[in-house]
Amino acid sequence: MSTLANEVKRLSGIYASIQRDKDRERELQLAMAPKREIVDAPSRQYQPYWCICCGRDYHATGNKVVEGQGASMSAVYKSQCPEGHDNYRYITDVGNDPYFNRSQDVAKDRALHADDILSPHDSRFQTVYRQQWLQHEARREQLHGK
Ligand SMILES: [Zn+2]
Repeated sequence: MSTLANEVKRLSGIYASIQRDKDRERELQLAMAPKREIVDAPSRQYQPYWCICCGRDYHATGNKVVEGQGASMSAVYKSQCPEGHDNYRYITDVGNDPYFNRSQDVAKDRALHADDILSPHDSRFQTVYRQQWLQHEARREQLHGK
């Protein structure tokens, strides 16, 4: 192999090595960077909470609490109920915030709007939307020539 070919091969190896280092550095920076939702969340937030001890809903201003580092960093808002119990709302992993399954306000709200999203195939549709159900049935019978 010529000296020039050897030199090209050597430099290609160095270049590939530098590229690998750059990729690794970028991955590390991404892993160390705090999650967007943690950075964007204000340090204090007024919102609803559910107190596990008292078993009731309340509204309060919570303080942002951050734990862990980099990709494993997580954050919550911590507030006290009127009785002084600590309660939390998730800033990260919001979809798994237990508040939504515990809160009676949320349950009431869901029940209130449950009828709004009934489909004609739901057995409750006949009761809740009697008039629409009868129209639906009449149209169906017309279409199918029953
Ligand atoms: Zn409480």
